[in-house]
Amino acid sequence: MNFVSTRGGEKVTGARAIVKGLSENGGLYVPEKFPEVSVEELESMLSMSYPERAAEILFKYLDDYDKEELLSACEKAYAKFEGGDAAPLVRIDDGVYILELWHGPTCAFKDMALTLLPYLLRKGCDICGIKEKVLILVATSGDTGKAALEGFKDAEGVDIMVFYPNDGVSKMQKLQMCTQEGSNVNVVAVKGNFDDCQTAVKEIFSGEEYNRVLKEKGVVLSSANSINFGRLAPQIAYYFSAYLDLVSGGQISMGEEIDFTVPTGNFGNILAAYYAKRMGLPVRRLHCASNLNKVLTDFLATGEYDARREFYKTTSPSMDILVSSNLERLLFEISGRNFELTAERMKALSKDGKYSVTSDELAAIREVFDGGYASDEECVEAMYDVFIDVGYTMDTHTGCAMKVALDWFEKNKKDKTNMVIVSTANPYKFPQDVLYAVTGNDVKDSFKGIKRLHAATAMAVPRSLLTLRDKPVRFTKVADSKKLFEEVLSFVER
Ligand SMILES: *Cc1c(COP(=O)(O)O)cnc(C)c1O
Repeated sequence: MNFVSTRGGEKVTGARAIVKGLSENGGLYVPEKFPEVSVEELESMLSMSYPERAAEILFKYLDDYDKEELLSACEKAYAKFEGGDAAPLVRIDDGVYILELWHGPTCAFKDMALTLLPYLLRKGCDICGIKEKVLILVATSGDTGKAALEGFKDAEGVDIMVFYPNDGVSKMQKLQMCTQEGSNVNVVAVKGNFDDCQTAVKEIFSGEEYNRVLKEKGVVLSSANSINFGRLAPQIAYYFSAYLDLVSGGQISMGEEIDFTVPTGNFGNILAAYYAKRMGLPVRRLHCASNLNKVLTDFLATGEYDARREFYKTTSPSMDILVSSNLERLLFEISGRNFELTAERMKALSKDGKYSVTSDELAAIREVFDGGYASDEECVEAMYDVFIDVGYTMDTHTGCAMKVALDWFEKNKKDKTNMVIVSTANPYKFPQDVLYAVTGNDVKDSFKGIKRLHAATAMAVPRSLLTLRDKPVRFTKVADSKKLFEEVLSFVER
């Protein structure tokens, strides 16, 4: 399977797409066509373990990798998840399920891909004959950074550098990153919000001069952000797995369509669901859930994507994003795979802060997607209601998705389609906000929040979060978003 850039001009193998991360003209790599999964194949996947299902889906795209090796990499990656199932499905009501994607080492769904990406990248370098040292640059809204650091720490031939918005991540997220161990890691706080961070890192990736300087020093850049196809591919697998679990549990029959509601920031997670649908998974609708930064809700309502608006800091920081990078991949598909038009729109976005799709395109998008959002207060209410009604505790990002799903149920009372709500973080990752939602209590300290939340819910506390308090802080640097390349250079020259 080959990959093309959404902005045209390039055709590369899967390994090359993963190693490069972003195409030369700034476009994102997309498969030349969607591989299909037949009903017979779905049937045969019913009895498989999660790693087997994941390897099956991955190999459809990454056929330049060795399938047996992919399987063993998946087995190793998902063995790091607690509880024996990397993506368990929990029933909370008739026809309503939660897909818990946070049982990995850093307690957020980013682990689903970032436990596997080091293998995909290292092997990709071998396949492409790349001898240079690889430097991974990551812009994070909180969870990607930690998951990438944990995935790549002490990996051979790879260094990793993470940039996060100084005031845009939760205390827990910051602590997780700044206490990161490993000899090949660096973490830098950036003045500004996530979008400033992401833009600055993208500029380094596509800067010819930057890349030339690094190459002279024997370093090539790669990305662990969700623009990398190596992030997207493992995420497609859990949509298949959730569906298969519903079939094998007897909740739906094979071929019956289901809906997913996905808490969305950079549009990576929900895009993976769209890819699964395009591959033949019986998915009816995808509900795109935002917080108060509801640029996607508005886009799905009007067809105009307008990032020129106030930026809100919310209790779901990993969704505090106004430029959803992966939407470019959907635009590309919806435009009939029109490279020029996609490039034009992305240029308009960076120049004018907005672009529009045609009414036909919007109609096509809305055949599959609808959007909704939750303010912090609405999120709390949804979390509280579910906690009181069925005793289920969720984090604030999942809370936004819950609110959007509840609104859908309210408006579509006769709809019997099964709904899977994607849960993206362990509640203990945002202990104060979750504690407030389920008990109304405010505490100043995260660890006190963890203790009280445990008392209120009796949910097990992940050890990796509890031990954070005693770890030494290794990284304290705060940099100007215009000066990130200097930070990169000094890390390379260390
Ligand atoms: C990253 C993240 C999201 C948003 O996912 P996207 O793929 O960026 O849309 C939602 N919730 C949590 C907890 C996250 O870490």
